[in-house]
Amino acid sequence: MKTKNCPVCGKGDLVRVTDITAELGGYVFVHNGVRCTQCGEEFIDEADSQKAIEAARKLGVWPEPLKLYRKLSEAGRGIVLRIPSDIERQLNLKPGEEVAISKVGRKVVIEPLSA
Ligand SMILES: [Zn+2]
Repeated sequence: MKTKNCPVCGKGDLVRVTDITAELGGYVFVHNGVRCTQCGEEFIDEADSQKAIEAARKLGVWPEPLKLYRKLSEAGRGIVLRIPSDIERQLNLKPGEEVAISKVGRKVVIEPLSA
């Protein structure tokens, strides 16, 4: 099976890993997925992230706001952040959509304008 190129940096190969960690409400979940050999971006298997979400709900640790950890990637001269697919779904975000980005202290708030 040919490995896919990383959609974030376009250079690295995506290799299978079984040690992607994501924290939900203070619990750390370990996921299967793929990781880019160049930029280190991680892509959790969709089925796996659904399992973690269900487990988190059972544990009663599904607080809003949902906090996931992501690494910033480099693309061209800028920095790219991939929005976690759960948030993408919950907010019904679409590529090309306009968002407002504001700095609140040490936090960056991304606000979809179509909501
Ligand atoms: Zn990459």
